[in-house]
Parts: sequence; C-alpha cells; structure tokens
Amino acid sequence: MVLGRFAPSPTGVLHLGNLRTALASWLSIRAAGGRWIIRMEDVDGPRCRRELGVVQLRDLAALGLESDVPVVWQSERSSRYHEALARLREAGRLYPCVCTRRDLQLLASAPHVEDGLRPYPGRCRERAWEGFDRALRFRLPDGRVAWEDLLLRAQADDPGSLTGDPLLFRRDGCFAYHLAVVVDDGAQGVTEVVRGADLRSVTATQIRLQEALGLPRPAYAHLGLVTASDGSRLGKRAGALGVEGLSNCQVTPVEITGWLGWSLGCLERPEPCSPEDLVQSFDWSKVPAGEVRVPETWI
Ligand SMILES: [Zn+2]
Repeated sequence: MVLGRFAPSPTGVLHLGNLRTALASWLSIRAAGGRWIIRMEDVDGPRCRRELGVVQLRDLAALGLESDVPVVWQSERSSRYHEALARLREAGRLYPCVCTRRDLQLLASAPHVEDGLRPYPGRCRERAWEGFDRALRFRLPDGRVAWEDLLLRAQADDPGSLTGDPLLFRRDGCFAYHLAVVVDDGAQGVTEVVRGADLRSVTATQIRLQEALGLPRPAYAHLGLVTASDGSRLGKRAGALGVEGLSNCQVTPVEITGWLGWSLGCLERPEPCSPEDLVQSFDWSKVPAGEVRVPETWI
C-alpha cells in the first residue's frame, strides 16, 4: 500500500508553496490508490503552536485535503523518539556535543553556505558518552548516498559535507527534526515523501538515519519552490498567500487549487477545480522541476 504524508510545522500560515506540496503529495497518492495522512511536526520548541496547526488543518480542508487517519502531533510521541535514541546509543552511533551556538559560528569556515545550512564540523566526535542529559549528535558513516528522486531523477550527496553529524536531541530536552521525521515516517509506514526543494539537502542525512534504525527508505520527490511574482523568495508576503489571505483578495479555494494543479502540469491553464478533478491527469513526468511564480494579480 502506497502511503504519503504532508508534514508541516505549525509555526505560521501555510503559503502557496506549502499548499502546492500538499496537493502534489495528495494527487500522487490518490492516483496510486493509496492512503494520505497529515502529521504535525511540532517538536521543535516554542515556535510551534497548536492553534497555528489547527488553522493549517482548516486551510487544507478548505482546499479538500484531509488526512485519511487522525492527525498525528509529534509532541505527543516522545516515547518513540526516546526508544530510537536508546537504539542508536546501543549501536554506538550517538555522542554528546557540548558546542555552543557561538562555537559553531566561529568554526564555520565556508564562505557561501546554501540556505544557511552549515555542516557540523565534528568537533565533539571523540567525546566519551556522558548520558542522556546532553545534546546528542548522530555519527554519520563516510561516503555518498544515492537515491532516485521522483522528480529530479538520480541524486547523490555526501551528507557529511551538507549537514555534518546532525543534532538529534537538544540540551533543553527537545528532540530534533531529523530524528522525529525519520522515526515517524518509519512508524507510520510512509512510502512516499513529497516536500520542497529546500529540504533536498537533508535527504542523504535522513537516509543514513533510516539505515541506522533499520527503517525502509521511502521514495522522495523534491518540488521546486514557489516564489513571488518577481522571482524573489516569498518571505514576509508568504502569509498573504495562504488560503485566508487569498480569500480576502477574492481568490477562492477552487481557484487556488486550479492554479496549483496547473503549476503541477495537470491543466493546460489555471481554471477553478477540486483536487478530485486533477487526479486523472497527475503524472510525475509532467510536473515541472523548476521554481514557480505566483500570479502577479495575487500579490
Ligand atoms: Zn560539538
């Protein structure tokens, strides 16, 4: 059974880029007769707020995108992440990291770091185990990871040069994104991960973590980002480009879905429709891999 998921962080309004990812995932799964779920990635500290997640679910439902099973909130699943950490500890794959943010800034040598991502330089790799009350990092094995992306085709990355050993557990007791995402994709039986191209650079790292936990590897698709009509990052205007913001500008949910469907190669031109109307024509080979610009009249 094919199982896809949309997994937003409840830190703000879902903008058109997020909604495009959700629709692409939904269409891919519906076209294959599978199951589609929504998961709230709310482990990452105080920026995540339950009420923002509720608004996100409401906006998705307005477009006709609803989870086939009750929505999972990661903040309620700590015991699973603890178990995974214990397994990695037994396998000798965890080590304590005592670096402060300032230490890491001083160590960062790369002059141009894509998307603000700086690989952890491995400063604490040789430290002895000190218990679960420390920040913990995952020891990556050497070498490149190859995978076949549904959209970008053959991919290969060296996770050591992109993220370095990822943080899995923070000193403040929070589980980090990489751990929660990998554990839950495995626990929920996710077979297909559709997400924005901004997360492509962490895929190799997450595959290494799956391997260490003995979890199957899902198929990946990394969609081009949605930019403002002038090609710039959505940034501050992103909130205006959510379901509610667009509705205030007289853009209806069926018009949003039609534009998204057109941007995914399902329609000749943007025209109002429901997600169901797009299932027959969805095909990964027709989805453009590049960035997509929001219509000028919407911004
Ligand atoms: Zn360190």
